[in-house]
Amino acid sequence: TFHKSKGQHILKNPLLVDAIVQKAGIKTTDTILEIGPGTGNLTKKLLEAGKNVVAVELDPRMVLELQRRFQGTPFSHRLKVIQGDVLKTDLPYFDICVANIPYQISSPLTFKLLFHQPAFRCAIIMFQREFAMRLVAQPGDNLYCRLSVNTQFYARVSHLLKVGKNNFRPPPKVDSSVVRIEPRKPRPEVNHKEWDGFIRICFIRKNKTLGSIFKQKNVLSVLEKNYKTLQAVQGSQNAGNDDMDLARFGDQSMEVDDGMDDEMDVECDEAEGEVSEFKNKVLSVLKEGNFEEQRASKLSQESFLTLLSMFNKAGIHFS
Ligand code: SAM
Repeated sequence: TFHKSKGQHILKNPLLVDAIVQKAGIKTTDTILEIGPGTGNLTKKLLEAGKNVVAVELDPRMVLELQRRFQGTPFSHRLKVIQGDVLKTDLPYFDICVANIPYQISSPLTFKLLFHQPAFRCAIIMFQREFAMRLVAQPGDNLYCRLSVNTQFYARVSHLLKVGKNNFRPPPKVDSSVVRIEPRKPRPEVNHKEWDGFIRICFIRKNKTLGSIFKQKNVLSVLEKNYKTLQAVQGSQNAGNDDMDLARFGDQSMEVDDGMDDEMDVECDEAEGEVSEFKNKVLSVLKEGNFEEQRASKLSQESFLTLLSMFNKAGIHFS
């Protein structure tokens, strides 16, 4: 019996398992990380292709079944099974990650991998089709969202295979896709919190103009607070902002963060009354870079980076 709550959908089509392993480009010297090995259909092919496999599996019954499957075979000493939740496990060194994961952990797992050190060569992962399409979406595509921007900022992502429901037992409700995620080397040299805070604001409403988003009271007040904190500190000493405790938009309001919240539910009053000096400062940056009429849904990585560095130059910070 399989646990639906643990996302247990076993790959039943051996041709598909072969295709995934072949697309992964595994070398005989590779240490492979597998997440959620289940009964081991993929694990077996990974053991054949690489040097060793470290598999993280949540369900103790699956761990037992897996160990039983390879006991007494030449594979057993090249397989290490870690029982636990992959999101709470310190990942060991690996060259490449290959996994058919439970879809409920897609977003946190993706980010865990993107920030994993030392960077691995690539990850070949089965995702729910729509999640996969969000990962690879380009500016202007319907599914382009914060998840697309963030993932593509840290990695090159490509769609490898479309996989129908009937390749699994029991079949899931949705179609799937296999995606390749290749961390960029070196990692982009930007303050990660700053980048995240900035992208969150731009995607409050992805189809609204940046001009109207940056006129919102709640946005301006977070940014102004940061601005004043920094001014005060820089007045007294010449410090950087690395270890200071600045506010970041959305920190309080978002408990579950799947990175896909392109339409966050926030109040969006525009700041009224006396036009503050700070508001003018923010808007003049947008004007200077011709960003006022642009929308997050159509902006490229480079444009986001340009705007962020213009803001930073003007002393405006997001984390
Ligand atoms: N890899 C197998 C296959 O392709 O046939 C099974 C894939 S099944 C979609 C997902 C597997 O991940 C299940 O064995 C499940 O028990 C395990 N799992 C679920 N949540 C997990 C977690 N948080 N950490 C590690 N494994 C998890």
